[in-house]
Amino acid sequence: MTERAYIGLGSNLADPAAQLHAALEAMAALPGSQLAGVSPFYVSDSLLPGQPRYTNAVAALDTDLAPLALLDALQAIELDQGRERLERWGPRTLDLDILLFGSQAIDVPRLQVPHYHMHARAFVLYPLADLAPDLQLPDGRLLSQMLGDCPFVGLERLPAPE
Ligand code: ATP
Ligand code: MG
Ligand code: MG
Repeated sequence: MTERAYIGLGSNLADPAAQLHAALEAMAALPGSQLAGVSPFYVSDSLLPGQPRYTNAVAALDTDLAPLALLDALQAIELDQGRERLERWGPRTLDLDILLFGSQAIDVPRLQVPHYHMHARAFVLYPLADLAPDLQLPDGRLLSQMLGDCPFVGLERLPAPE
């Protein structure tokens, strides 16, 4: 069955915008998957102080992959692009998080969907709303309500490339 997944992309090392472009290309090439949309890119302050700012975006991916197979594929792309896990929330070349997977709620040790902290992250909610303003979460929460509770702070929307 094909599901629409929303993937949050983030990078704050080694030419972040180029990292996002490379990741989008790699996601588009995943088996049984099609890139259905990409938000504008944003620049955001790091969650932890003292790190470079992040470049973020959200992509819509229509995929036949099962959720854990998609997680495996996304983690392989992260590793391909030099992701190292040295400290929690440390700077990284690439982070690919599954924000939503159709209307499924998933809670297994390796994967919780919807992403546990998306409601509090402006760099996730605003690009997601660019793609799907009327989105509703599996528990019924409306994206528009979540946006209302998450001010546009520490975030900058980049103009679309020429
Ligand atoms: P955060 O999850 O707060 O955004 P992070 O993205 O930096 O932090 P990672 O180091 O990328 O965290 O991932 C840690 C683990 O989170 C992964 O090994 C993965 O198994 C697990 N995980 C749980 N839910 C998800 C999800 N929805 N998307 C991606 N990874 C997830
Ligand atoms: Mg993350
Ligand atoms: Mg992650």
